[in-house]
Amino acid sequence: MKKSILLFLLLMGSLFFQQCSSESNSTRVDNNQSEKNINTERQEYAIAIHGGAGTILKKNMTPEKEKAYFEKLEEALSVGEKILKAGGTAQDAVSETIMIMENSPLFNAGKGAVFTNEGKNEMDASFMEGKTMNAGAVGGLRVVKNPILAARAVMEKSDHVLLTGNGAETFSREQNLEIVDPQYFYTERRWESLQRAIKAEKVELSEDDDKDGDRKHGTVGCVALDKNGDLAAGTSTGGMTNKRYNRFGDVPIIGAGTYANNETCAVSCTGHGEYFIRWAVAHDISAMMEYKGVDLKTASESVINGKLVKVKGSGGAVCVDSYGNVSLPFNSAGMYRGFAKANGERGVFIYKE
Ligand code: ASP
Repeated sequence: MKKSILLFLLLMGSLFFQQCSSESNSTRVDNNQSEKNINTERQEYAIAIHGGAGTILKKNMTPEKEKAYFEKLEEALSVGEKILKAGGTAQDAVSETIMIMENSPLFNAGKGAVFTNEGKNEMDASFMEGKTMNAGAVGGLRVVKNPILAARAVMEKSDHVLLTGNGAETFSREQNLEIVDPQYFYTERRWESLQRAIKAEKVELSEDDDKDGDRKHGTVGCVALDKNGDLAAGTSTGGMTNKRYNRFGDVPIIGAGTYANNETCAVSCTGHGEYFIRWAVAHDISAMMEYKGVDLKTASESVINGKLVKVKGSGGAVCVDSYGNVSLPFNSAGMYRGFAKANGERGVFIYKE
């Protein structure tokens, strides 16, 4: 009699456990099926870019300005896509793509970076590769033409992760990176923004003061998955208009503005840096996938449009996972962004579509 009760209990127990595990499996499947951009079939390669998020409204755009942004985003995306298609590395795709945007005055990175309170340009950048979890970052660069290359050099050619100020510039010179006169970074538009910010005694996020209402964070970033299955992420910015005290935002902080892990995803962020640092946004997206087993879309949306919205941390992120799924969440009116996958899906966008 006792024996049969024991057997009955064992049977019930095993049925209970089977039920639990099939529920968690079906949650995973449902998540995947609920998003049209979630595939379990691995893309050979995938890439996503951003050129900053913020109050970017169609009504404030001129057709010329819109065209200029679309063209530059398309150019940057195509450069990275071509590298990946030809079998190049995710690292090369990320740095070459970001350089196109750094060299354009349209974005708050490299040429076109915002001014500090002292009337200088101080740029930050970061890089991470998902295979080795190696990372490099620079803060407060004033003369290095392409800060993303300095971040990548820190990752590949030094024992360190973060170099700042004069030391970071000495290192960049030693790496034979292109050095320019600080005047190279000057743009009339950013200079005027500084004058308005000084007058208003405000420290502003990128173009938050734009008189045409184009309020955005103009940081640039790129994430990529290559044919070897390796992920990489990079981000580059001029930071905030009228910043002082050598302020750094999230961009040079690995895990805040940039993160890559082959087991999960690659993430590059743009937005109000102080929130992205405190909520460790890029790492949090990866950690949700790793610890909770949720898909990329669920993880990235719940951080950007869940946690950050609750605390009024504005911004967005571009993310790609190890299957080549892409997610481009943002909680602002718009985000300059684009993506391309090996299966031919691609696009560049500005507003909420
Ligand atoms: N995240 C950058 C910072 O806080 C700003 C931006 O994304 O435009 O420095």
